[in-house]
Amino acid sequence: MYPLLRVDLNKIEHNSKVIAERCAAKGIKMMGVTKSFCALPEVAQAMVDGGAEYLADSRIENLQKFQDIDVPKILIRLPMNSKLDKVVKYADVSLNSELKTIRALSDEAKKQNKVHKIILMADLGDLREGVLPGDIMATVEEILKCGGVQMIGLGVNLTCYGGVVPSTDNLGELGKLATEIEEKYGIELEIVSGGNSSSYFLVENDTMPDKVNNLRMGEILVLGRETAFGNKVKGTYEDAFTFHGEIIEVKEKDSVPKGEIGMDAFGNKPTFVDKGKMRRAIVAVGRQDVNPEGLTPHDDKIEILGASSDHLLLNITESEKEYNVGDIMSFNVDYGALLELSTSQYVDKKCVK
Ligand SMILES: *Cc1c(COP(=O)(O)O)cnc(C)c1O
Repeated sequence: MYPLLRVDLNKIEHNSKVIAERCAAKGIKMMGVTKSFCALPEVAQAMVDGGAEYLADSRIENLQKFQDIDVPKILIRLPMNSKLDKVVKYADVSLNSELKTIRALSDEAKKQNKVHKIILMADLGDLREGVLPGDIMATVEEILKCGGVQMIGLGVNLTCYGGVVPSTDNLGELGKLATEIEEKYGIELEIVSGGNSSSYFLVENDTMPDKVNNLRMGEILVLGRETAFGNKVKGTYEDAFTFHGEIIEVKEKDSVPKGEIGMDAFGNKPTFVDKGKMRRAIVAVGRQDVNPEGLTPHDDKIEILGASSDHLLLNITESEKEYNVGDIMSFNVDYGALLELSTSQYVDKKCVK
């Protein structure tokens, strides 16, 4: 049924295999991050089939969806104190930066007769989550006193809020901190996690600091794109996910609305360029499901004019194809569009092989 978000599982598996192999060649294990597609279990499985050794998501509800896949499950958003029982139950490992939460996790884990594993996050400049470098040692010391948690790693997240690009400097600092912790406290850190898809270019350049042995990969696996510079990754597919919508009107109309121009459905005052008469199509999907700027029509002669809550307006004048009511129009999606379409309950999801 339409609107439809379609996933080619072979392409996801292929992308995962390509990236996992290139990472493995540099001693790096890959976590497959599933949040962009709301953790559809078939897609998560395709990531594992391709070589992801862990599955990771920012939401505990998503981790619950693939409990039967036999890899460690990582919660990559700092846990909420109100959901720690579920964190201990459904996540094998969580990323953490707050001692209050870590102590409460430890208590909860003891209650469930478990040891919950944690990766401590360091903030190396991006100003999202993480303990500042100067506070790391004191934090580790306190973590080691908690019987219910085991610190198995150190991690960093970059290029998410501040747009800070991963480098041999900041990831070198991560490695140095990890070595310092290991030497000072006599523990082994199994995971030194050097970030997300934006760190991949250091693997290709062969400039990833040695101590980094883990990356958390989301966008690069689903859209074949590294995210430090937005470059396409050679040998991967960018169209594993595609969007398909149904045409509900095709008519020749003016390009400029008639009458006084007030506000559009979202409170903005629109402006128009007069291009004369246009052949226009309406697809049954709207801003309630997706921001139209994140869609790219497969037919490159088609122009997206805009969208209201549930109508997507297209200029099809230049297209060589004859579009009719009931026809399906296909689009590539960007990361934002993928998130939104995955989340919309009005959009059907279909996995194909
Ligand atoms: C979303 C997220 C990732 C994955 O990011 P991509 O850019 O999709 O690879 C990794 N780590 C954390 C902490 C995240 O929140």
